[in-house]
Amino acid sequence: MEKWPLGVFAGIDAGMGVKLEVARELGVPTIQLHAPQRATRTKENAELFLARLRELDIRITVVFAGFEGESYADIPTVARTVGLVPPASRSARLEEVKEISDFARLLGVDAVGLHIGCVPHDEADPLFSGTVAVTRLLCDHCRSNGQNLHLETGQEPADVLLRFLGEVGRDNLFVNFDPANMILYGCGEPIEALRKIGRYVRSVHCKDAKWAARPGEEWGTEVPLGEGDVGMENYLRTLDELGYTGPLTIEREIPREPSRQKEEIGRGIRLLNELKAKIEGVEVRVQIFSAPRGRGG
Ligand code: MG
Repeated sequence: MEKWPLGVFAGIDAGMGVKLEVARELGVPTIQLHAPQRATRTKENAELFLARLRELDIRITVVFAGFEGESYADIPTVARTVGLVPPASRSARLEEVKEISDFARLLGVDAVGLHIGCVPHDEADPLFSGTVAVTRLLCDHCRSNGQNLHLETGQEPADVLLRFLGEVGRDNLFVNFDPANMILYGCGEPIEALRKIGRYVRSVHCKDAKWAARPGEEWGTEVPLGEGDVGMENYLRTLDELGYTGPLTIEREIPREPSRQKEEIGRGIRLLNELKAKIEGVEVRVQIFSAPRGRGG
């Protein structure tokens, strides 16, 4: 597979992300798909959708789950409503992600992603052990479908996420790294976090943001790619050092008119292509000028 194929976060019904046609116009070879609503997740629809993707020459790399009742209004509301952490909705949501995993299998996709929610920083918190238990069940279901589970980053610092991954202890549990979320939620400098979590990273979002005045208490601000505090060149160089060769999926979450969104994502694609060429160029020079090594040396 090509190194770092570009992608966008896309949806097929009322879900989040750009429409497939926009992905096609942007010329990207991959998408991450926001799972469609339950009524849409049929075998028949999966086949129709796959035929459409073949026509467009687009491949799905991850199917992302989201849930009714989630709200990103402010950080405390996220903690109360998002993912598998809130206990009241946990078992129903587990069943729903299992269904989404089954739908992803119909689409031939081997990775399911989600925001697990705000994992408590204190391991003694019952929400921590409850979330560990439900994540194990979900990993095991994904395994039965030949899939990995990718947790989106940013709602907790890297060290908390590492402890959580270790506690779950499933070898099909990985990370979808989103550098902007680290800034938006005030959960740590993104490149430092990427280095800590690097061995788990199997998919990434290319998204940018500016720090809040009071990080962690109020949202940072999502901005177009290259205009925020992530540092896209440093981000890609770090992914390169970590040996990450998978898709670079642009995510632009702020709802806005489609033409503006397409124009902004188009600029993001140009930026990533320029950086890819620059970084690959550096690699070529290193190869040319590095001293030849004898066999067995
Ligand atoms: Mg993201």
